[in-house]
Amino acid sequence: KKTILSGSTVTGDLTLGNYIGAINNWTKLQDDYDCLYFLANLHALTVFQDPKVLEDRTFSFFAQYLALGLDPKKNIIFVQSHVHEHTELSWILACLTPMGYLNRMTQFKDKSEKHPKNINSGLYTYPVLMAADILLYQADLVPVGEDQRQHLELTRDIVGFWQNRYGEGVFKMPEAYVGKMGARVMSLQEPDKKMSKSDENDKNFISIIDDFKKIEKKIKGAATDSGTEIKYDPENKAGLSNLMTIYSVLSGKTTDQLEKEYEGKMYGHLKVDLADLVVSTLRPVREKYDDLMKNKDYLDQLMKEGADRAAVRAQKTLENVYKNVGILYRR
Ligand code: ATP
Ligand code: MG
Repeated sequence: KKTILSGSTVTGDLTLGNYIGAINNWTKLQDDYDCLYFLANLHALTVFQDPKVLEDRTFSFFAQYLALGLDPKKNIIFVQSHVHEHTELSWILACLTPMGYLNRMTQFKDKSEKHPKNINSGLYTYPVLMAADILLYQADLVPVGEDQRQHLELTRDIVGFWQNRYGEGVFKMPEAYVGKMGARVMSLQEPDKKMSKSDENDKNFISIIDDFKKIEKKIKGAATDSGTEIKYDPENKAGLSNLMTIYSVLSGKTTDQLEKEYEGKMYGHLKVDLADLVVSTLRPVREKYDDLMKNKDYLDQLMKEGADRAAVRAQKTLENVYKNVGILYRR
């Protein structure tokens, strides 16, 4: 079985975009691949986080993963900081990564423009930690969104630097996973940019644990064009097409089918039906989530099991790395 590794930063709450674009697909991979999914709480720190919020959110994210259908028996689900090898390998890799390569990372440029008061060196070396996340587990495939593609490329470069200096056999060269990828979900108010859980405007996204009334409001208030015809046309009808994409993924109907079904009807009709569909999709998720959050001990236990399973692999890689570099491993 090939190994797949993916994760999300512990910021905000998971959105319908994360579900449709990522987690919904992860649940379909769990039988055919050896899968590891982690909560990137160390990555989250590159932007200031309230300590209490970050702590609570780590539990909440873990529960959201499970509520969305990720099976902790079939997958290794764990918290990044629980496996200390991530930061240790990150240092070794940092010593291999030329600054010039990091200077080219567009996400650093974007994020440092967005947070000009907190341009810390963690934000700058973020891609090195991400390389460590991937390389520790000998991942073959990494499902990445467009925004992470450049970082995966850098990971591959780092493997190259390593091989030049220390030879082959320690790391696997990872590849981007391009399978049946989920659709890209766009922002509800600004449909030319992607839906993002860290968006400041909460009308732009639907969080999977949003209140149902709020979800209905957000969908009914989604920006659409001034036309009337229900037609899938992302270029000219970005807002409407985004709603149709969500509708299509959640209902299993094609956008062609939706066009026929809604012929002669108004945008409002589609919005009302979509709101119902989203709410009925998220209702069982919400119920499962609420149950899980009532039982922190159980979550703790699952986190521990996930970390233990991940650590066995991480340790093996790190020990091998240290040996190759000439760093004494703890006896
Ligand atoms: P942030 O704004 O904090 O970066 P995010 O919503 O972009 O949050 P990530 O943690 O960066 O979430 O990504 C988690 C996973 O969800 C990744 O696999 C990413 O490609 C996917 N993803 C994120 N946003 C979308 C979207 N709008 N549509 C489809 N997939 C998405
Ligand atoms: Mg992102």
